[in-house]
Amino acid sequence: MRNILHDFFGLFFPDLCPVCRTRLSEGEQYICTDCLLLLPKTNFHLQPENRLEQFFAGRIPFQRIAAYAYFIKDGSIQQIIHELKYNHNPKIGHFIGQLSGENIKGSEFISAIDVLVPVPLHPKREKERGYNQSYEICKGISETTGIPVDNTTLIRAVNNPSQTKNSRFDRWKNVENIFTITDPSIFQNKHILLIDDVITTGSTLESCAKEVLKCENSKVSIFAVGTAN
Ligand SMILES: [Zn+2]
Repeated sequence: MRNILHDFFGLFFPDLCPVCRTRLSEGEQYICTDCLLLLPKTNFHLQPENRLEQFFAGRIPFQRIAAYAYFIKDGSIQQIIHELKYNHNPKIGHFIGQLSGENIKGSEFISAIDVLVPVPLHPKREKERGYNQSYEICKGISETTGIPVDNTTLIRAVNNPSQTKNSRFDRWKNVENIFTITDPSIFQNKHILLIDDVITTGSTLESCAKEVLKCENSKVSIFAVGTAN
């Protein structure tokens, strides 16, 4: 019944690829095959001291940092992330998480990880959006790699105002101390992979990592679907 309805509505509202806006063919899901093949992958997970790691160097004591693909203005990853965050399409997050998981599966980067932790949204923002996009990405990565997700131990304590008009220092101040750990024993002796949708300034991830590293003998790595760096 659901499929019949889907096909019926599809006559009027066909599923479009969010990147090139062409209608998806049968068997294609969320993103068309042509656009999938053209995703600008970084393969940073295979490159220790890649430029994302250089970008974070000296800011936090991380193990490794990688991103699935380059986030370029008006590029495919920007369209996909926009679809995920602003078009009420959590499933595309799950899908891009699966693609990311397939990409890093079997590498030393992911084999070292004990638990996947999404960057938390403030509950108010999550309620407005209906989901946390980073958690949707985590679920896809977890399915392909078998690594569990923990979305309850690292939480966001206060809602920070919009960051778009602030300087880098203000942004950093904005996210400082807004994350908290509910039970430090859960992350004790664990290697945490923090997951975000896109890495831009890195200030939110930096703040999360600092909080996680307060747990005894914990290690932190970072992974995002896109990187603007
Ligand atoms: Zn396309």
